[in-house]
Amino acid sequence: MFDDRIYNFSAGPAALPEPVIRQAQKDIWNIERSGIGILEHSHRGKVFDKITEQTEADCREIAGISDDYAVFWMQGGATSQCYLVPANFLPADRTADYFETGKWAQDSIRDCDPKYGYGSCHICASSKDSNFSYIPSPEQTSYSDNPVYVHFTSNNTIMGTEFPTEPTPPGSAFLVSDMSSNIFSRPLDVSKYGLIYAGAQKNLGPSGTTLLIGRKQLVENPVRELPQMMNFKNHATKQGRFNTPNTFGVYLMGQVFKWILAEGGLKAMQERNEEVAGVVYSFLDSQDFYIPHARPDCRSNMNVTFKCPTPELDKAFIEGAEKQGLDGLKGHRSIGGMRASMYNAFPKAGAEALVSYMKSFAHEHAAAAKA
Ligand code: PMP
Repeated sequence: MFDDRIYNFSAGPAALPEPVIRQAQKDIWNIERSGIGILEHSHRGKVFDKITEQTEADCREIAGISDDYAVFWMQGGATSQCYLVPANFLPADRTADYFETGKWAQDSIRDCDPKYGYGSCHICASSKDSNFSYIPSPEQTSYSDNPVYVHFTSNNTIMGTEFPTEPTPPGSAFLVSDMSSNIFSRPLDVSKYGLIYAGAQKNLGPSGTTLLIGRKQLVENPVRELPQMMNFKNHATKQGRFNTPNTFGVYLMGQVFKWILAEGGLKAMQERNEEVAGVVYSFLDSQDFYIPHARPDCRSNMNVTFKCPTPELDKAFIEGAEKQGLDGLKGHRSIGGMRASMYNAFPKAGAEALVSYMKSFAHEHAAAAKA
């Protein structure tokens, strides 16, 4: 930890790799010896051309993405994809299947409604019965007859659950995934997907840009006429520069990609994340004061969720943590308790500092909790 930095457990925007921030500090003043900072360069100029090309190339290298896929950026957050996906992919007389595994999945389901003219939504599996503490198994999943696509949220940021592997869609259906909170945290086989999207602000960079990786044949052929900004084709065929993109967001994502590659790629990210999350999970498994939310077989390596025995103790825990320089641990209001978000860039020392605080807090309050 640095004198002027604390451990940031925020769910997003979230901690970024130190070398990325250091480089950005320089590039904001003058990038590539151009005499102009990254915030001031035209999105159509040579410097930004190079940034876009390199960022796309590094993205392709990280995940082994073939030419059959377009890599591009959009604005409007992952939330805009809730309506853009059915608008582009779902004919009015067809159905898409959705996994209901948390609040963000429910947002996607809400926007895939026949009242918007985009076809129907079938919930193929849900863990709502247990406040989304698990990921439904294949046995608990029942697909509709011939869905166009199957949508799932690969990591449920609020609940702290993660799909151990992607579901297998039935028939000719393709997979669509909201990977906002675990993209590039582990190896990924893009060829299994029709579309992957991820808001940048957790594993990829700052808020304000969304990465899309889509099979060209799908994103370049929307199923209906659409207003220009809603049409995937316009964005996919112009490298995300159909209109003015979030240039800084794309630039910083490029820096994060360089960092991922330098660290050893997705396998290295996975090892690192298992180790960091493992510090907290192995402590949680060894004690009976804190109550974990996620079922162990589907818990997330990105967001660790747990509670104290009472809401009063949760409040005291969070207040005490802040005094120790452990920030952003308050759980989402829909589940309460605590959430430690530890994405790719989060240091193991931060997880160790959390566990050490958890131990002393439990020690101090165990008697009160039992009384
Ligand atoms: N999906 C997931 C999995 C998320 O974690 C979030 C944000 N936390 C969103 C969607 C919504 O993202 P945005 O605010 O960028 O629209």
